[in-house]
Amino acid sequence: MSSDQMTAVADLPTPDLTFDPDAPGACVAGVRPYRDGSYRLGTETVSGRFIVHNYGHGGAGLTLSWGCAAKVRNLVQERVAASHDTKVAVLGAGVMGLTAATMLRDLGLTVTIYSDLMPVETTSFKAGGQWAVSIVAFAGKERELKDILKISYTTFKNSIGKGFGVSEVPNYTAKPSENLELVLALVPGLLPPRVSLPRMPFEGHTKPGFKYQTLLVEPPIFLDRLEKDLEARGVRIVHRKFISKADVFARLTEKIIVNCTGMGAKKLWNDTKMIPIKGQLAMLPPQPALRYLYGQDGYMFPRSDHVVIGGTFERFVNNEIPDKAVCQGLVDHIASLFGRAVPRPLPDIHIHHPRNAQMVNPAMPHLV
Ligand SMILES: Cc1cc2nc3c(=O)[nH]c(=O)nc-3n(C[C@H](O)[C@H](O)[C@H](O)COP(=O)(O)OP(=O)(O)OC[C@H]3O[C@@H](n4cnc5c(N)ncnc54)[C@H](O)[C@@H]3O)c2cc1C
Repeated sequence: MSSDQMTAVADLPTPDLTFDPDAPGACVAGVRPYRDGSYRLGTETVSGRFIVHNYGHGGAGLTLSWGCAAKVRNLVQERVAASHDTKVAVLGAGVMGLTAATMLRDLGLTVTIYSDLMPVETTSFKAGGQWAVSIVAFAGKERELKDILKISYTTFKNSIGKGFGVSEVPNYTAKPSENLELVLALVPGLLPPRVSLPRMPFEGHTKPGFKYQTLLVEPPIFLDRLEKDLEARGVRIVHRKFISKADVFARLTEKIIVNCTGMGAKKLWNDTKMIPIKGQLAMLPPQPALRYLYGQDGYMFPRSDHVVIGGTFERFVNNEIPDKAVCQGLVDHIASLFGRAVPRPLPDIHIHHPRNAQMVNPAMPHLV
């Protein structure tokens, strides 16, 4: 189907947007590990240790995880062929650490994960879950990003129905989704083409819109599955907090170290390019009848554990303290789009959006 074909779709069930910001777990905040210029995926050798860095994936870590893990595996495999080392330390138990550890274990290596947080406590656990290239810089790395996207998407897609929390879903948007348009432009044919709709298929909607087909990756299910599979294959998560690079070298014996510390790399590796971008989420009870993603500024991702409503960006804010008024504002914004409330913009913090700060790839100035 061509991308400009206009297709009418029957109306779909709409969300119940009743929200109690005081309910336990109703408001969540996380910090996207954004790296100015580009994410870091590469090697260095320090004090006889071979380091593979894999961090700085901003708002797209879940999306890029398997592809980056495959790159890490290839780099380590080359090293192992030359050095015959068999032990690898992975720093970090977020999505980057767990997927890298999985692929390194596939090589038959002895892998140990070291982390000050368990997977359930990481930023990765807080991700919304859409497979889309959101808020990540990749200047000069377009070719590498293409490979990463192909591997990631294919790996996630092949895991549908196998207990990894992955499903294929449409995403309805009033305006073209820059995060998904980027994928369509970079890797034509990877995702089904965008469909133009004469009207968004929801009660209360009168204007045209777009339908994309992408994946939903539910972090609580995905991370739990990775952790259990790793444990079953003899990969332990050792609780450890490192205070500096020197501390890493002093306390680890492994000669190959894979650094997946996300925002932690700012301090640990003195990486001044790391910029925190806080995001907040309103978590509503699950509504299984909703089988689509929805977005117009802000977004709504119905998952099996919650209907997740998000879309705020606070640049340089490095704390995970949720603000109930902000979460309520997110819900009110989505409610207004469904004609349930007086139309109102997202909470004020949306204006700190990276688009305004020109933090994104110059080739895609509106990538968010
Ligand atoms: C609100 C929000 C919504 C998001 N939605 C999406 C989405 O829909 N799709 C998507 O693809 N991405 C999304 N993301 C982005 C995604 O969550 C991140 O890109 C991803 O989690 C980064 O993974 P990571 O493993 O690099 O970092 P983390 O998950 O932060 O893991 C870092 C690990 O390193 C460990 N560590 C750090 N420092 C140290 C230290 N000094 N010593 C020991 N251990 C250390 C931590 O304990 C942790 O285990 C979202 C993020 C936020 C905040």
